[in-house]
Amino acid sequence: MRVAYATMLYRTLPPAEAVVKLHNMGVDYYELSYDNFINRKGQEDALLEETQAALKRQGLLVSSVHLPYDKPTLDMLAQGKEGAVTRMIRWMRAARDMGATIAVIHTLPLKRSESAIAANVSVLGRLVKEARELGLTLAVENRLEGDLVGSSVDELIKMASSVDGLKLCIDVGHLNVNTKSPPDEISKASQAGLIAEVHAHDNDGYADEHALPMTGTVDWYRVAGALLHFDGQITYEVSCGGPEAKCDNYVRFLKMFNRNVFS
Ligand SMILES: [Zn+2]
Repeated sequence: MRVAYATMLYRTLPPAEAVVKLHNMGVDYYELSYDNFINRKGQEDALLEETQAALKRQGLLVSSVHLPYDKPTLDMLAQGKEGAVTRMIRWMRAARDMGATIAVIHTLPLKRSESAIAANVSVLGRLVKEARELGLTLAVENRLEGDLVGSSVDELIKMASSVDGLKLCIDVGHLNVNTKSPPDEISKASQAGLIAEVHAHDNDGYADEHALPMTGTVDWYRVAGALLHFDGQITYEVSCGGPEAKCDNYVRFLKMFNRNVFS
């Protein structure tokens, strides 16, 4: 199992600086969070290029990239706007150039229905083809919003069984808000052999806090049990925006947690 840390652990830093910071904290694998890009709207393309150049200069690679998940972009994808597809492809190319092997994507923000599944299958099918040509695994993540398609593992499995090569990113925190038992849902996806990545973070069962494991209501020992034979990537998608010294302690805590619970 590859253990990665998301750049949102230093969410106020520009993406490349967050990777360097994690590297200096002794972390080996990184996921580029979209959150580090969000506060710098309008400069996204430039920031993506800057990030690529900065990582290259530092000789650092990332393991995975979280593709844009803002509602306007996903709405445009749902409406079949070519610009949105091109933008996702541009991100996947950048991901490949930065060394990533996994690109994480959210489902189209549509109300739950059979046609919403079909719309996702159509868009994800196209993006999987592009991803495969780049040597990337596309992993679709379970959503937080319980009324939207893709918030349940069953819906994701349905999508993945219709799109050859599509894998899943199981977000434990989102599951904790939407289901009674995240470990059971994880086992279901794991038994289907579809999980490429797991997003690990905690919450109180109501809000998407992206908190440290063991500070919310997730039963992490049962989650670890459900992932016993998993050999994909687990990513600590914990958010920290406070003083750097505090975020440094988050990283130290996660290392201790990982040693104790996942190894
Ligand atoms: Zn996530």
